[in-house]
Amino acid sequence: MHIELLAYTRPNPALDPAHLADVSDLATIWNGQSTYQENIIEFAGRVCYRSTHRMGTAANFISARVREGHEDIIEHIVITLRVRGSDAPLRWRMLNRHCEVTQDADGSWVVSGNTRVWLDFLRRGIGTEALPILYAIAPNVYAEYAADAGALSLPALAEEAPVDLSVLRPAERDGMRVTLLGYTQPLLGDTESRTHHGSATFLFEGISRACTHQLVRHRLASFSQESQRYVDLSKGGWSAIVPPAVAAHPEAEARLAEAWDYLQNTYRDLREMGIRKEDARFLLPNAAETRIVTTMNFAAWSHFLWLRAVDKAAQWEIRAMGQRVLEMLHAIAPDVFAEHWRVYEEQFSEQ
Ligand SMILES: Cc1cc2nc3c(=O)[nH]c(=O)nc-3n(C[C@H](O)[C@H](O)[C@H](O)COP(=O)(O)OP(=O)(O)OC[C@H]3O[C@@H](n4cnc5c(N)ncnc54)[C@H](O)[C@@H]3O)c2cc1C
Repeated sequence: MHIELLAYTRPNPALDPAHLADVSDLATIWNGQSTYQENIIEFAGRVCYRSTHRMGTAANFISARVREGHEDIIEHIVITLRVRGSDAPLRWRMLNRHCEVTQDADGSWVVSGNTRVWLDFLRRGIGTEALPILYAIAPNVYAEYAADAGALSLPALAEEAPVDLSVLRPAERDGMRVTLLGYTQPLLGDTESRTHHGSATFLFEGISRACTHQLVRHRLASFSQESQRYVDLSKGGWSAIVPPAVAAHPEAEARLAEAWDYLQNTYRDLREMGIRKEDARFLLPNAAETRIVTTMNFAAWSHFLWLRAVDKAAQWEIRAMGQRVLEMLHAIAPDVFAEHWRVYEEQFSEQ
């Protein structure tokens, strides 16, 4: 079996740490001590615990999370390999349905999986030929195989078509921010293959739990969300997302603010009574602001965008979020998202 690296999640080239430092804690990604790919993994984990200020301070952060079973964080980096000389990838797909496997005209297989999928394969003793590549991209995820991994310099990969960087900068509107953290798009000939092997990872901020509850219903995806169980919301505060219809109605807005104050005070009182965070959170409403790191391949994003971005039946908040995603994905992969873009321009160009 011969294995070759085709693509893996790369940084969004429009993210500039110097500019981000003024905007949010996003710049802490570059405080990570590993590869950019593992820095995304650590950042996703630290979003969950509201500890991004500690990026890069614990060398074993990723391996500790993996050991305790908090493994969603290692689903945000996708690696695509070409396999020649064996039909084994067909069996791999049967063993783990979270990978994508297609066959090229020359008979070789193209296999995409996130670092969790590849870890699962290694633990089953399969795909071990890929270990040096996997280890070079994510040494902490594969720390248990360090002795056999060797030291590989990753090959330079063929360049993708240039993208308009202004579209890929964090998109901020009405308190919501959508940031593309990274993406991968193997240079495969046909649009269908690229739909299955391309993927993108976003950070969504300034959105409500009502919005993320809809988002996480999409099952072919990976999520890392700020925890209401581990984060003490009486420290550092928490905010409510106010729907525009409520904001436009002074009496409704005043009532919402009143209810919100009551809940905030009650949360703090419960904490002072010694009630655990995991129980005090029972009074948090759907309006509670949250943030979440989300990864899907282009096929899953495509389905999501049809339901949530270009359909007028979609709820206003997730639709606004989906439309920012569509703008960026269309810039990266115009052929994959051409039809969504056409409908978006036709139906929502007035916005
Ligand atoms: C306007 C709107 C209103 C909604 N209202 C409600 C509501 O009132 N109550 C409610 O509970 N939900 C509601 N939903 C959520 C909706 O039912 C889905 O749960 C959500 O949109 C996720 O989409 P999905 O199930 O199509 O696909 P995803 O989970 O995104 O999966 C993508 C695709 O994979 C396939 N797939 C994934 N898992 C399976 C499986 N187990 N079996 C077979 N095929 C699978 C399907 O082809 C699916 O389309 C609403 C959604 C919208 C857009």
